[in-house]
Formats: sequence, C-alpha cells, structure tokens
Amino acid sequence: MTENIPENNVVLRADHLVKTYDEGAGRVEVLRDVSLSVQAHEMVAVVGASGSGKSTLLHVLGLLDQPDGGRLWVAGEATENLGERKRSHLRNRALGFVYQFHHLLPEFSALDNVAMPLIVRRMTRPQAREQAAALLDQVGLSARASHFPGQLSGGERQRVALARALVTQPACVLADEPTGNLDRSTANIMFELLAKVNQTLGTAFIVVTHDPALAALAHRQLHMLAGRLS
Ligand code: ADP
Ligand code: MG
Repeated sequence: MTENIPENNVVLRADHLVKTYDEGAGRVEVLRDVSLSVQAHEMVAVVGASGSGKSTLLHVLGLLDQPDGGRLWVAGEATENLGERKRSHLRNRALGFVYQFHHLLPEFSALDNVAMPLIVRRMTRPQAREQAAALLDQVGLSARASHFPGQLSGGERQRVALARALVTQPACVLADEPTGNLDRSTANIMFELLAKVNQTLGTAFIVVTHDPALAALAHRQLHMLAGRLS
C-alpha cells in the first residue's frame, strides 16, 4: 500500500511555478507558469520536445531544485519554507525517482540496491531485505535478487530501479524517460509494469516520455511547451 496520501487525495500540487537559469549566454526561462495537480492513484504522462524543460520540472517537483516563483505542495505539505533537512526528509518519505539511466550501485546486488533507501532510513538490514524482496517480486525479478547490475539486461535494471523507487511506499513516483534507453519491446514491458504498479499499489506516477504510444497509456497527457504545461 501507499503511504503519505493527504486527506484531500492530492499527492502533488504546483501553482504558477517559475524556474529561470541565468547562464553566461543569458537568461533562460525554462518554467514560465506551470500549474499541476496530481491525485493519488493517477498516472500522468508529460511529453514535450527535447529542451522544453521536462527534466527541470521533475527536479523542481521532486524537491531536488528550488523554483524561483510559485508554490509547491508535496503530500499536502507546503514546501517553500522548508529547510534542506526537512526537504530531504519529505522527499525520502513521499517521493520516488526513476531515471533514464538506472543509477544502480554496481557493487551491490539487485536486492541490496532495492533495500538501500530503507537502510538509509535506519531500518535493520534483514527487515529492509525482506521488504526489498517483496518489491523485486512485484516487478517480476525474484529470480535475479542476488545478481549485480552488470549481470542484468537494460530492461531488468530499470525494473530494479523501479522496485527501489517503490520500496519506501511513496505517494508519487517521478520518472524521467524511464524507457528512453530501452528498445521498443522492452520499453513496452516497462511501461506496462508502471501501469500495473499504479493500479495494484495505487502509487501516483508522473512519467516524462518521448513516446506517444506509451504516453497514451497514462490517465492524462500533459505537454510542455514554451515554459507552460497544458
Ligand atoms: P528536457 O528535459 O525537456 O529535455 P531540460 O529541463 O533538461 O529539458 O532543459 C530545459 C532548458 O533548460 C534547456 O534549454 C537547458 O539547456 C536548460 N538547463 C537545464 N538545466 C540547466 C542548468 N543547470 N543551467 C542552465 N541551463 C539549464
Ligand atoms: Mg530531460
């Protein structure tokens, strides 16, 4: 089951977010006015051209980067006045992340990679491993628990990365092109797995994808264009 779902069922809400990068070459207004509300159990796809600000949006929504304007609530909690420690805590408690490249630790088994977020939370190793094993089972990889990332296929690594994102029972998973590095049939399997997890565990997803066919599997599709989401 999913934890951290606020009473109004809104796991993530953004109002008029603004994010600007000030580089030598000049100011880039990446997010001009982004508003979004994601309900528990929802699966939202975000599509848009390369460079349109999709990753920037996920970083801001995921509390990895601060917006320059607007307001953001995560699991019902207003985030603008949180210090770094409370932001990290909220991130660890309420959110999960999956990236285009799996970011698994190569010297740890699949099981220990999935257990890691719980060990960071100071759960005992046997308990963390037990919960990690249950998540590996959810993504169909029980038989690969003792394998290292280097011994897994690209699709299997992404499934381990998904299990790791889910092991803390986040209200919402933010996925940045989780199938971008996979071939068509492996990408389909991964996306169908996201949809299955969304249905069975009730985890909300915001999935950035280039693939219109995959985006069509989500409940809603949003488009990033000129710093706006619609
Ligand atoms: P997408 O994920 O849609 O491809 P990004 O969010 O990565 O787009 O980037 C959006 C724009 O912001 C691009 O023009 C990119 O060059 C710029 N950008 C992203 N991160 C930074 C940064 N840390 N500093 C300056 N510019 C950045
Ligand atoms: Mg990107």
